Amino acid sequence: MDLLTALVEKGLRREQPTREEALAVLATSDDDLLDVVAAAGRVRREWFGRRVKLNYLVNLKSGLCPEDCSYCSQRLGSQADILKYTWLKPDQAAAAAKAGVSGGAKRVCLVASGRGPTDRDVDRVSQTIEAIKEQNEGVEVCACLGLLSGDQAERLRAAGADAYNHNLNTSEGTYADITTTHTFADRVDTVRQAQAAGLSACSGLIAGMGESDEDLVDVVFSLRALDPDSVPVNFLIPFEGTPLAKEWNLTPQRCLRILAMVRFVCPDVEVRLAGGREVHLRSMQPLALHLANSIFLGDYLTSEGQAGQADLDMIADAGFEVEGAGTTTLPAHRAAAESLCGAGCGHEEAGGCGAHAGAGCAHGEAAAPVTALATAPAPAPATAPAPAAAPAGAGPRTDLVAVRRRGAGTDLPPNA
Ligand code: SF4
Repeated sequence: MDLLTALVEKGLRREQPTREEALAVLATSDDDLLDVVAAAGRVRREWFGRRVKLNYLVNLKSGLCPEDCSYCSQRLGSQADILKYTWLKPDQAAAAAKAGVSGGAKRVCLVASGRGPTDRDVDRVSQTIEAIKEQNEGVEVCACLGLLSGDQAERLRAAGADAYNHNLNTSEGTYADITTTHTFADRVDTVRQAQAAGLSACSGLIAGMGESDEDLVDVVFSLRALDPDSVPVNFLIPFEGTPLAKEWNLTPQRCLRILAMVRFVCPDVEVRLAGGREVHLRSMQPLALHLANSIFLGDYLTSEGQAGQADLDMIADAGFEVEGAGTTTLPAHRAAAESLCGAGCGHEEAGGCGAHAGAGCAHGEAAAPVTALATAPAPAPATAPAPAAAPAGAGPRTDLVAVRRRGAGTDLPPNA
């Protein structure tokens, strides 16, 4: 039994791969890439068919954040020439959300820069959620407001929020290298507060910040242990004016391997292709639909995505279908667990699987024997600490990074 056969079988059983298997996926060669995508695609289709869920971002408050997340164009001291504005009024946010829903989005993600909301901010967002729900029957609303207390989470849930996003972003071991103003543990705590309040947890990562393969596997295993319902996979958009502006480490092939690894580790979870897909996957985006079952439609928080119609065309051309409002995203076993105990409680198995980011776990099982892909290089050594070298072919594509100048916070119509 080779690596991919073993991973497919585990994915169909919702069983966690070993760290060595996850590392081996990241170490596969370009010659094996289509086999990797096909194998992870089988797992994706088992749990999500050929459906693609569309999500739409509304940046409620842009820029001027006191936190120092290195990857973020809204951080303290950022020189990035982004839109800066304070809280949108509920009717302004609802109008922006309407455009996304009209374009096919099933979920609206309300994001605000900052360390976390004040109680007054929670009031504002609650009014916004109510306005959006009033105007768009059946729409899901996810809030992403930073670090959250249990009481605030409960108030958002009572206001009608369905989900809360707070990404882990990178491994616990390297978290202090990207942010000093809060900790990995703070982020884990917020995800747990959201789950405890009955909100569906959304938590993911950012790849391409100079991390090693070990770091990527660490953060994805941490996510599996937290058991979110959705995992956004962001690829760093190296914004000029941020400390990570020179980190152009990704190729389309690397992005696909990362997405495949996430799918194998979190087989029945909504894996969302998030910020940076246009910049780093470029013409390979359709292949990523075989791995992720969810994408953002249109623009991101501070950068522009491809035209919304281009997203819809890509989905149709690749043979996928936009998930309708009447369809439940999660597989039946996870949806049932969510309705029984709030959200994010799909952990039937031990170690179960369960932004603030540029867009939006633990381990410990006995290591099974590594089953390497017949034609692949040996898996990365378990102790390899060095950041992955820039792959051949990677190079700055600053021409693909466009600061958002339309939509929420402007007088121009949004891209949806
Ligand atoms: S990621 Fe969020 S908390 Fe961090 S700097 Fe950006 S807006 Fe602030």
